[in-house]
This record gives sequence, structure tokens and C-alpha cells, in this order.
Amino acid sequence: MHELSMAQGIINAVLDTAEANNATEVNEVTVEVGRLAMINPEQLQFILGVLVENTIIEDAEIKFEEIPAEIDCSDCNFHGDAILDDSDHYAPIVRCPECDSLNVEILNGKDIVVKNIVIEKPDDS
Ligand SMILES: [Zn+2]
Repeated sequence: MHELSMAQGIINAVLDTAEANNATEVNEVTVEVGRLAMINPEQLQFILGVLVENTIIEDAEIKFEEIPAEIDCSDCNFHGDAILDDSDHYAPIVRCPECDSLNVEILNGKDIVVKNIVIEKPDDS
């Protein structure tokens, strides 16, 4: 399942960072989710909730920030956020908002990135 490997990647990134900073607990995680990352956010959230059990992320609040799909249109040279028909999360249709073309280059919005984590350290009082 796509969401499972995504979720695993997020957890690993957070744990790596937390360990590198000697965290005892992770309080908050902010994840940027591209509109074109082709995941179902509800499913991702659910899987994350399962994977964090018995880790230092268990009680963290996991926030998602949606990143719009940024495109260059090959037909009218529009540059900016695309119109998305993503009623199907796995095959979103990307259109130019200016000329309705499907002939677009996708510049941004495909990735899932851990943007920020808030941790607790042993010396915090
Ligand atoms: Zn266009």
C-alpha cells in the first residue's frame, strides 16, 4: 500500500531527527503533503496513528499542510497553481487554470515532507 510506505518514511524521518536531538518525546509533527502526492490523507493519518504506537511519537499531534500543485503550462505559459480534479486521489487530473490545457509540467506538489517537529528533551523543565 502506497500510504503505508509513505507513513513509514515519515515516521523514520521523525525518529531519526528526534534521536539526533536526544528527544525523550515528540510533541508535534508537521507534514507537508503535496496535492499530487497521490495519497489519501485520511488513510495516511490512520496508518500513522497505528505506526506511532509504542514510539516516542505516540502522543504527538500530527498536522498536515497541503501543498498546491504548481505547474508551467506548455500551451499558454501560465505559471502557478493548477486546477485539480482529484476526486480520485490516485489519479488526479492536472489542468491549466488559464487555458484548460492538460499539457502542463508539474513543478511542485508531488512530495510528502516532514517540515517541522517539536520535541521534548531531558533537560527541559
Ligand atoms: Zn495554459
